[in-house]
Amino acid sequence: MYQALSLYINGQFLGGEGRKSQEVVNPATQDVLGYLPHASDADLEMALQSAQDAFAKWRKSSPMDRSAILRKVGQLTRDRAKDIARNMTLDQGKPLAEALGEIVSCADHCDWHAEECRRIYGRVILPRAPDVRQLVLREPIGVCVAFTPWNFPYNQAIRKICAAIGAGCTIVLKGPEDSPSAVMAIAQMFHDAGLPPGVLNVVWGEPAKVSDYLIRSPISRKVSFTGSVPVGKQLAALAGAHMKRVTMELGGHSPVLVFDDADIDRAATMLAKFKIRNAGQVCVSPTRFYVQKGSYDKFLAKFTDVLKGIKVGNGLDDGVEMGPLAHERRVPAIARFVEDARKRGAKVVLGGDPIEGKGFFFPPTVITDLQDDSMLMTEEPFGPIAPVVPFDTLDEVLARANSLPFGLSSYVFTNSLQTATKVSNGIESGMVNINHFGSALPETPFGGVKDSGIGSEGGSETFDGYLVTKFVTHV
Ligand code: NAD
Repeated sequence: MYQALSLYINGQFLGGEGRKSQEVVNPATQDVLGYLPHASDADLEMALQSAQDAFAKWRKSSPMDRSAILRKVGQLTRDRAKDIARNMTLDQGKPLAEALGEIVSCADHCDWHAEECRRIYGRVILPRAPDVRQLVLREPIGVCVAFTPWNFPYNQAIRKICAAIGAGCTIVLKGPEDSPSAVMAIAQMFHDAGLPPGVLNVVWGEPAKVSDYLIRSPISRKVSFTGSVPVGKQLAALAGAHMKRVTMELGGHSPVLVFDDADIDRAATMLAKFKIRNAGQVCVSPTRFYVQKGSYDKFLAKFTDVLKGIKVGNGLDDGVEMGPLAHERRVPAIARFVEDARKRGAKVVLGGDPIEGKGFFFPPTVITDLQDDSMLMTEEPFGPIAPVVPFDTLDEVLARANSLPFGLSSYVFTNSLQTATKVSNGIESGMVNINHFGSALPETPFGGVKDSGIGSEGGSETFDGYLVTKFVTHV
């Protein structure tokens, strides 16, 4: 049984009655799993209105009550993880163990927000005159509208929902139409945990139409988006035209710097496994592999060897380490990178062509002999494809790593503290991982610089985007 699909507005689950709907397809088999109703303009207006009505009360709710609901959702997440994971593998494609891992880790996100929302403090500023009192209050910004993607359908949505609700805001969220089951499961859990009607609303539809409607509305006060840089820029521009706050978690093109003094076998093995996580459809996926000349051949051999052994298949099958791409559009998108590389004389040393048969499968692919200005070295690939190129010196590789407009994550492998420090000081990225992968924990901030975004999610920064500052002074 696949997840029932509906809109969730003002505490009601609204089905397809008379609404336009779209097929939800299993990317491993191309079977139709269900039909997702689209919100009409009247539905969107109802969602905004109910969020506005609910805000009047929710903004005054006790942080203890908000915390209790978030904790309850954390517990329900753990209780229901297996079913939610199975549905996520069905509509998103990732291996079941990865889906389960995503969901269980999200229970920790709920707990973190449940704890932190009780610690939203203001401050007292000492006055210039003895009878004056000066207070800085932090208040919820209001109705938030959020747009979340299909690569981590549970994680991306829960982070925005917990931050908004914990801060005392209400939210209208458009989830990913290609992989909707996780967001439906979240709506059901908040409903079961006793969240008042209207505090969380979930809608679906044509992304551009829905975002345009929700952002233009005078009811919404904040826009949060996770997705590609071009779409993020469009939404940020629209939000700017209406003077609305934004949080933008956008794409990257994460450089990996492997120095001669690193443990090359360990780095190559770890990076190969990390690369195929979620079939490479991860905004912080390592995507540009720069390896110092003395270790290049050794790294490439080990890296390719590990990727060659990866079992690709239906994420529900035992032992599968990499599933299909999440939807049909991704296959030609990845193939275009290979085509450009081949045209420029690069070498495809592993994979390179879609896997024939049912499902949207693309194998792990390794490409060498690429110029820095090739498509694969300059545009975010978002798939299981890895360009590996050599470098000589630290200064040179840092300049090449920083040469793109992106700045989300970066990876460094070295056993020199001096090198690690120089790179972490000089690299233009919101997150730097040295000799391991440690981003995206609930207690650590996640976010990019340059074109990769605005603001952070997680960490003690998590509520910043959902609060406004009010200064009060009196005698
Ligand atoms: P796409 O650009 O059509 O969609 C990407 C995501 O943005 C989807 O979830 C989609 O529903 C949403 N979206 C698109 N236009 C929108 C709009 N006008 N308003 C609101 N939401 C909108 O392409 P795609 O093929 O689905 O994904 C490919 C690209 O998206 C990737 O190359 C990657 O850069 C990006 N992406 C990034 C993340 C991330 O975590 N940063 C996640 C998923 C996709």
